[in-house]
Amino acid sequence: MVAQRDSRDARVEVHLDAIRQNVQAFGHHLGQQAGIMAVVKANAYGHGAEAVARTAIRAGASWLGVAFLGEALALRKAGIQVPILVFGRVSPEDAWLAAKHHISLTVFQQEWLHQAQQCQPGDVGLDVHLKLDTGMGRIGVCEQADMQTLVQAIQTADCFRLQGVYTHFATADESDSNYFRMQYDRFKKMLGWLQTWEALPDVIHCANSATALYFPGNVHQLARIGIAMYGLAPAADRKSDLPIPLHPAFSLQSRLIHVKQLDGGEAVSYGAEYITKGKEWIGTVPIGYADGWLRKIAENGGEVLVDGERVPIVGKICMDFFMVRLPAEKNVGTRVTLIGRQADACIEVDEIARMLATINYEIPCMIQDRIPRIYNDAEKNAAF
Ligand SMILES: *Cc1c(COP(=O)(O)O)cnc(C)c1O
Repeated sequence: MVAQRDSRDARVEVHLDAIRQNVQAFGHHLGQQAGIMAVVKANAYGHGAEAVARTAIRAGASWLGVAFLGEALALRKAGIQVPILVFGRVSPEDAWLAAKHHISLTVFQQEWLHQAQQCQPGDVGLDVHLKLDTGMGRIGVCEQADMQTLVQAIQTADCFRLQGVYTHFATADESDSNYFRMQYDRFKKMLGWLQTWEALPDVIHCANSATALYFPGNVHQLARIGIAMYGLAPAADRKSDLPIPLHPAFSLQSRLIHVKQLDGGEAVSYGAEYITKGKEWIGTVPIGYADGWLRKIAENGGEVLVDGERVPIVGKICMDFFMVRLPAEKNVGTRVTLIGRQADACIEVDEIARMLATINYEIPCMIQDRIPRIYNDAEKNAAF
């Protein structure tokens, strides 16, 4: 474990060994034909982009995927050299900054190519991936004519190289595969057009985590693995039929910073709405909604782990603190697990997602940078 000063007793512990195992499991699941792009956008879904990227690369990932150019540049600045693809739309005037750092960009607009070409500074070349919208309705080209114009513009300009083509599925996590099949058929048809125009690039990709898990035969050259690399299932209702085991990497830990016994009839937290029923041991935990630990979690019966037992959150969650009802007196400094495991007890990211009526993706993303990320790396520790 990397030592880091942590005077407020709150930390996200990221299990890099779990990430390594998940990437390796995908390597076996997909076989030799498909490479792995580790998706590390949004600070690696809240896990820490640089540490996750390095771990994924060591475990066999050959590409990194991010949403914005800034995220890609930060990885380059950290010294990471593998190919990186930006999924979003980069401003055309920043295209050459990307090129200079060997960062590949997503293209889907004729006007963008024109504007980027206008400000090309000289002999740099830019690698582009053509984005096809097959039914996600987010970004990408849909029409054959638009596709042809784009491809021609790329082919006739010296400064662009068509390195890849891709699409993104809206429903690969669902057990009903009809919409997925429809999107995949459109993708195949569009690849056929590219072939006719002799423009089919080397790197064809379409798989997010759910596609790579449930449709490994439809992956093509590269699988863009996000959520499952972090050990979380893309579909909460299909956790029992995962083809590979997933190891969660994210845990949220704290400590009791205050413990006291209250008499019956005393109130806890804002609004003085929680009233003790008799003498109760109340502990204070230094994490609050400003850290992303939202009030709704308490309203919906939120619990934490103390000494291997579930204990309830009582009263409203404050900006920087919340309180719990302890079964007995505990020492200040006792470990409190908000997400993760203690002995046989476990609070999963999925449980918090259910309480907030959302998907697991949102949970690590919403835990703010105010809580430091600490890396727990069994392999590295073993080497020392
Ligand atoms: C975020 C993202 C992914 C990763 O999706 P997961 O469901 O987390 O695996 C893949 N491709 C694109 C284009 C994305 O934006």
